[in-house]
Amino acid sequence: MSAVLPKPGAKTLVDLSEIAFENRFVRELPADPVETNSRRQVRNASYSRVEPTPVRSPALLAWSDALGKELGLARPGALALEAFAGNRILPGMEPYAARYGGHQFGNWAGQLGDGRAITLGEIIARDGSRQELQLKGAGKTPYSRTADGRAVLRSSLREYLCSEAMHFLGVPTTRALSLVGTGEQVIRDMFYDGNPEPEPGAVVCRVAPSFLRFGNFQIHAAYNEPEILNQLADHVLHSHYPDLESHKEWFHELCRRTAVLMCDWMRLGFVHGVMNTDNMSILGLTIDYGPYGWLEGYEPEWTPNTTDAEGRRYSYGNQPQIGRWNLTRLAEALLPVVPTEALEEGLELYGKTYQESFGKALAQKLGIAAFDQPGDKDLMTGLFQALGAVETDFTLFFRGLAAIEDAADDQRLIAPLRTAFYVEPDAAHVGRLAAWLRQYVARLRHDGVPAAARVQRMNSVNAKYVPRNYLAQQAIDALTEGNASVLERLMKVLERPYDEQPENNDLAERRPEWARHKAGCSALSCSS
Ligand code: AMP
Ligand code: MG
Repeated sequence: MSAVLPKPGAKTLVDLSEIAFENRFVRELPADPVETNSRRQVRNASYSRVEPTPVRSPALLAWSDALGKELGLARPGALALEAFAGNRILPGMEPYAARYGGHQFGNWAGQLGDGRAITLGEIIARDGSRQELQLKGAGKTPYSRTADGRAVLRSSLREYLCSEAMHFLGVPTTRALSLVGTGEQVIRDMFYDGNPEPEPGAVVCRVAPSFLRFGNFQIHAAYNEPEILNQLADHVLHSHYPDLESHKEWFHELCRRTAVLMCDWMRLGFVHGVMNTDNMSILGLTIDYGPYGWLEGYEPEWTPNTTDAEGRRYSYGNQPQIGRWNLTRLAEALLPVVPTEALEEGLELYGKTYQESFGKALAQKLGIAAFDQPGDKDLMTGLFQALGAVETDFTLFFRGLAAIEDAADDQRLIAPLRTAFYVEPDAAHVGRLAAWLRQYVARLRHDGVPAAARVQRMNSVNAKYVPRNYLAQQAIDALTEGNASVLERLMKVLERPYDEQPENNDLAERRPEWARHKAGCSALSCSS
């Protein structure tokens, strides 16, 4: 078979089976010397060579044309589909599962690793970047512990959908190329209530320059493998941060990127749900979509993850602080390769960058140039008081702000925000909100930006469409019945999340009441 690299900018898309693969990570880092695919503790290695376990009857359920184009890949033919299901290793692929550890919910959990994810190889995208293709749900690996190596359709669809949505929202993220049904059932206890049920399985092909996590460093530190730790740091530096010169610079850049990522999540109301250190990317990407959610009623303590309902460690409002906690754990692992003061500087940079970015983001969301006027502190306090007083949809509130126009009548003044209320506001709240809006309108007048320009700028940061959990669940229910059109429509709309798209207004509504307590529609368990 001829290996044809698509020329950068080439118009034609080629099948995966005609692409050349590279395997830089495999080349540069030590492999597990044991080659049997059995569950065990692995030592002195960064990965284990392992092949996906074939599935019964692969069926392409979804394909990201947008990502396919970036990679130069056509919708899969028969051979490629087998590869995306894990049923065929194409020439040049050197599949592996990465070894990592991590802190889960604040406690060191020892070896975790790719328990159901298997990297197939790297390809060169049209822009010249190197991209790893990784199957999630592809079968057992040495890191599967007691689990089955598989993923259910509902969780795979959620990862597929949100990865692509995040990309179009402008948030750094791993991507998703395909969703392949396996034709096999997977047993899951979805409610953790002792009633496991069979569910359809599916495999996602994820794409990113690297899926390395904080935990890949932590495992080498925890098991006293300083040479490998150093090799890994070198690999990350020259492969993924080619413009930087030292491990110190890399750590600083990662602190900066993680701060910007947290700011993006916070400005959009995204809640990851499981910010364990094994779910934190060394590239500053959003990674491992599980029981994530989008803030609906503004409530800083909200978490979509029912497993975290008690501690709320990973609630919306805690995310920036957890980002720092996780970077601190990484810093501890990096002590052998980065001087202590430099690690401390990085953590300080994280805090500073987050404060600056979030201040800027909030000003943009409000459509003002900067928080630099005497009354601005008050304005901000009033904003969050108003948001918290009556259950108010975070996304719709900010989107609605752009349409606020001065009016003497309170009800007329607040009219653009009406769609955001989950409960009817009483007269006192209407009065307070109207008073805040008058202060806000006066502040806008002070900046003096023409309304049309301001609205355009505000709409470019206040998304209209986000993949709310109940929308994802509707796509899951339809696809489970063999209907892909709900998912396809949602994906198309989410390619332009900041555009008005009036014909799709039904996908920009607040969560309906029937979805408030329905499984998967608001909160979720980790079962996936
Ligand atoms: P997560 O909470 O999804 O980030 O996963 C934590 C760890 O559990 C990782 O090492 C995963 O690879 C592993 N894991 C989760 N689900 C499965 C599964 N079904 N089979 C094997 N390993 C799994
Ligand atoms: Mg994970």
